[in-house]
Amino acid sequence: MDVRSRDYADLARTIIEDTPGVRKAVSGATAAFDAARRRAYAEIDAEAWRRWAEGVKNHVLTHLDQYLEEAEARLQENGAKVHWAGNAQEARHIVAELAQARGVRSVVKGKSMLTEEIELNPALEERGIHVYETDLGEYILQLLDEAPSHILGPAIHRSLEDVQALFADRLGTAADALPDDLAAAARTELRARFQEADMGVSGGNFLVAETGTLALIENEGNIRLTTSLPRIHVALVGIEKLLPTFGDLAGFLQLTARAGTGQAIGCFVSLIQGPATAPGDDGPEEVHIVLVDNGRTDVLADEHAWETLRCVRCGACLNTCPVYKQTGGHAYGWVYSGPIGAVLDPGLLGLEQTAPLPFASSLCGACFDACPVRIPIPDLLLHWRRAAQARGLTPLSERAGLKAFTAMATRPALYRYLGRVGPRLAGSSLFRRLPVLSGWTEHREPPEPSPRRFRDLWSEGIGE
Ligand code: SF4
Repeated sequence: MDVRSRDYADLARTIIEDTPGVRKAVSGATAAFDAARRRAYAEIDAEAWRRWAEGVKNHVLTHLDQYLEEAEARLQENGAKVHWAGNAQEARHIVAELAQARGVRSVVKGKSMLTEEIELNPALEERGIHVYETDLGEYILQLLDEAPSHILGPAIHRSLEDVQALFADRLGTAADALPDDLAAAARTELRARFQEADMGVSGGNFLVAETGTLALIENEGNIRLTTSLPRIHVALVGIEKLLPTFGDLAGFLQLTARAGTGQAIGCFVSLIQGPATAPGDDGPEEVHIVLVDNGRTDVLADEHAWETLRCVRCGACLNTCPVYKQTGGHAYGWVYSGPIGAVLDPGLLGLEQTAPLPFASSLCGACFDACPVRIPIPDLLLHWRRAAQARGLTPLSERAGLKAFTAMATRPALYRYLGRVGPRLAGSSLFRRLPVLSGWTEHREPPEPSPRRFRDLWSEGIGE
């Protein structure tokens, strides 16, 4: 995907004006997720859990080299092959070479944001290897040739009517098919793909260093089939996904499910130790774990941004964000959207590519309250805003406005004069048409200026 976030304002405007159904679908779905998360948090001492999870992830991230080596050793003892990918190109190359060397013609894939990040599907398709998405949301998007718009619910921007029309056209279901019938049609179609696939590709929610266990959470069962039915399983895992111990995993499985979907735990949790060990055993003949950096060590080296690497991709910050709810994820221009995208994308892609994203927030702080690993997203938004300002990446109009304010605020006579005429200007139609301000006043009444200036009240001794 080469849409980059510089276009944020244009993309957001286009989505809101041209596709009002997106706003309705996204608002409805995220409100339901958010309500479920609040209920699930209320059942536990959420603050204590969140502080514990924050501490575990901080410990891993500050000892990452040690835990990566431990995980590699355990995975190899378990019979898995470990690959290291420094960037997206290397990760794509590793998977494509594995597939070609083994004569793979068909791949089934579980939902994985990392494979979206490295653009794996086109790389495999270029080599004549067919990739079939098996998560229902991803399957819908593959039929539509669209990118995911939410970390957890990739197709939440699509309404039931959209899916009914799509499946009627592509799978021959009734135009008014019920959701269960639509899911059954997709299941039937995908069963054939599972049976013929030579390779299953997944992501990984967590990788336990102590035991070399790859953990995957899902609600549909497609990941379990993806990782167990084909003869080869390849998992692409970001290097930040490590947990020290199996005991830590127990806590993270519960907390991640509560944050993302409000469940006590996901419907299916797959714990993968390695390939089948004896002929006739269930499971793939080969398991490959590709540990992907792709900018993560640079983020880790940033004294502020490193905290974004605690993210467990639960989507809770998206579900509670008043800005994300208006547009869905496509306005953000890359795979990671919403509040986490606004602070992670600048670190992974570079601020030059993504400078508008940290400004796509009201700084209300709801994302921090929802986050199971207490990532200080509002602070990080400010961090990236300051960096964008310092590098001259903010809009010209904003920089000119701040310069004008500085000129006024550092000249007492000018400040006093504008303090006298300002309130009269604020009520005029000219004020409403000023650049930048007009974007705000077009839809709102500007507040009535006070009839008495603070300066006058102060000089009269009122308020002392
Ligand atoms: S930043 Fe926190 S709330 Fe948002 S997806 Fe990551 S872990 Fe979940």
